[in-house]
Amino acid sequence: MRKKLIVQKYGGTSVGNVERIEAVAQRIISYAKRGDKVVVVVSAMGDTTDELIELSRKINPRPEEREMDMLISTGEQISSALLAMAIHKKGFEAISFTGPQVGIITDTYHTKAKILKIETRRIKHELEDGKIVIIAGFQGISTKSEITTLGRGGSDLSAVALAVSLHADRCEIYTDVDGIYTADPRIITNAKKLKYITFDEILELAARGAQVMHTRAVEVGKKFNMPIYVRSSFSQKEGTIIMDKTPLIEQSMVRGVALTENEAKVTVCDVPDKPGIAAQIFTKLASQNINIDMIVQNVSHKKMTDISFTVPKDSLAKAIKISNRIATSIGAGSIVSDESVAKVSVVGVGMKSQSGVAARCFSALAKNKINIEMISTSEISISCVVAKSTGKEALKVLHKEFGLDKMKE
Ligand code: ASP
Ligand code: MG
Repeated sequence: MRKKLIVQKYGGTSVGNVERIEAVAQRIISYAKRGDKVVVVVSAMGDTTDELIELSRKINPRPEEREMDMLISTGEQISSALLAMAIHKKGFEAISFTGPQVGIITDTYHTKAKILKIETRRIKHELEDGKIVIIAGFQGISTKSEITTLGRGGSDLSAVALAVSLHADRCEIYTDVDGIYTADPRIITNAKKLKYITFDEILELAARGAQVMHTRAVEVGKKFNMPIYVRSSFSQKEGTIIMDKTPLIEQSMVRGVALTENEAKVTVCDVPDKPGIAAQIFTKLASQNINIDMIVQNVSHKKMTDISFTVPKDSLAKAIKISNRIATSIGAGSIVSDESVAKVSVVGVGMKSQSGVAARCFSALAKNKINIEMISTSEISISCVVAKSTGKEALKVLHKEFGLDKMKE
């Protein structure tokens, strides 16, 4: 039988201390013993990256990004070397590398670099030699020979990109949860673990505020159709497979719900109702890199309309300032903002082929006396802005309405 090539990634919690590193070493060895070739990607131990960032701020509140990359790339170097040592102690062969050493080539944008290509020669050579290859995640080397990092949480991306470049048979992401759930289990106690979910659903859930998987990693998986297995490093349980098309015969309409309380609503009141005004407002906001999510324009009677939109809370001050300036120049009224809003979303590719999802959403919320302030839809999702005080309740209502509490696969 052909030997399988498996890429495994272990997150910060999974390698958080000596005992955990030893447990991870044991798990890796069990694969190697089966004859599989294993490439392992590791994150920095526990909160190392946060601690390094904090440390840098004490020295210089505005450090140069090149030096930041020099600093924060060290966390992963530590965990990869320690993991190799743990494997050696158990009598197996392993070798650790930094991202630059194995030719993970990136562009030159420090602290948020993009991977351009991976030279797999060295890795393949070591695998042929019978070694377990351990690679520091989250980092690479730029086309200008500088150390770069890929953005927070970037080890997932390293792992998926390596799996794609090596044509791996399997890409596994080990984390501290045992898979992907129909909702955040901290809010919805009867959320169910999904056996499968599609790339598109995961991307949509992440965009709607669910903290699931690193978005860029999922995008790479989707682009090259590399299924991603998300599992816990603390148990033997099967996790969730993120894939292009699930093997489910009849896809349920909704596969997950998400809640975010990180957005705020801005309303520009009494906007003159004539062509070009919306274009002006949103062009200005976009040019300042403010990410607009939902937009609602109310019906007008007196040649005036109200335009409401949502922005991430940390851009609110900037959005208000810009809106005020535009309001004055176009002869609109006041700017009103509301930070106590929440957005609930339902997501599922099954919606494409079935009607009535929106109606069910709205009826379920209405039945529970939850007022909807704004609505937006995409091909595979429906989102509603509600008062923040009703956000969690709205999430529960929708989770139940679409039978997610009884989801089996
Ligand atoms: N250690 C890095 C971070 O905390 C990368 C990662 O964990 O994936 O962002
Ligand atoms: Mg981390």
